[in-house]
Parts: sequence; C-alpha cells; structure tokens
Amino acid sequence: MKRLSWREWLKTITFYEILVGMKATLSHLLHYKPITLQYPHEKRTLPDNYRGMLALLRYDDGTEKCVGCDLCEAACPSRVIRVVSAEVPGEPTKRYSKEYYMDMTRCLFCGMCVDACPVDALGMTREFEWAVYDKRQLHLNKEQLLAIGDRAFPVREKRLELQHPNVAFFNVAFKHVPHKPN
Ligand code: SF4
Ligand code: SF4
Repeated sequence: MKRLSWREWLKTITFYEILVGMKATLSHLLHYKPITLQYPHEKRTLPDNYRGMLALLRYDDGTEKCVGCDLCEAACPSRVIRVVSAEVPGEPTKRYSKEYYMDMTRCLFCGMCVDACPVDALGMTREFEWAVYDKRQLHLNKEQLLAIGDRAFPVREKRLELQHPNVAFFNVAFKHVPHKPN
C-alpha cells in the first residue's frame, strides 16, 4: 500500500477538495449583494432588441399599413394570427385587412410575422406587462393592435408611394402621386 506524504495527509484531514469546491459559494456568502429587483417599483433595463407585445402600425397620415396579404398568418408557426382581407371600397387594386386577430396566449415572440410582412405593418413593442386574469383578454382584434401601435410607435413612416414614387405606377388607385414621365 502506497504511503501518503504529509501534504496528502494534511489535505485529507482538512477536507481540502471540499473547501476548493465550496470556494465560490463561500465567496458569495461573505460578499453577499442582493440581486432581487423590487418589481414593479424597480424594473430591469430591457435590451435594445427586446421582443415584446405585437402591434399593427399606421402611416403618418393615420392610414393602416396592413394590406391584408396574409403572409404573417402563413409565417406564424403557432397559428396566432387570423387575417380577413377585403378590397378597399372603390379601389379594386388595393386590399386591406377588414378583420385582424391575434391570440397572444399562443405567441412565441419569435418575430417571424414581423419579418414576413412586406410593408412593415407589424412591429414588436417593448411592452411586457400583459398579465391578465382571463386569457380571453389576450385575444386581440385589429383596433386593439392598432391602439398598441399608436402608443408604442409615435414616430410613423410616410406612405410607401410617397417614399418611393415609382411604386405608385403599379397601383392605379393612387391618382394623387406624380405620373411616370414618357
Ligand atoms: S411573434 Fe412568432 S408566434 Fe408570435 S404571432 Fe408572430 S410569428 Fe406568430
Ligand atoms: S400585417 Fe403585413 S403580412 Fe400581415 S396581412 Fe398585413 S400586410 Fe400582410
């Protein structure tokens, strides 16, 4: 049987390995700093890319951005979104979402609907305080989603045809924008 050196004996009788393993725990015990935030009086700073409650957005003249294309509905992996689209009355080349519903009890906050939207009509806000007693309150309709967008995104874009006049030539419904020179 191998004889232990005096160092090994000392380590054995002082539980050296256990003390090394407990080093981080003992350090926290001696230099204790509370990390608990007294929510809701104290709130954590959210990261810049935080993905919170979804919202429908408007252009700066108040018109809804959504053109009822259903791409968000198709992109959503959780079947949160339901779009009922219709023609804009009197403008047969244009569509809009007549009804728009989101069941936020199912949302993963993955952002795929936002990425899928061709006209940036959806945005993710920094709102997260949406605890409710009745989950039916998280079934949101178009007006509720637009209201969230109105308060979360006060700075709005110009209408697309005013940002990029060339796109108006593909849409005869916009009579007020300049015509393409011959
Ligand atoms: S964030 Fe993801 S899960 Fe939520 S509605 Fe959009 S696509 Fe669906
Ligand atoms: S929110 Fe965007 S992707 Fe969804 S229906 Fe409206 S325009 Fe299409």
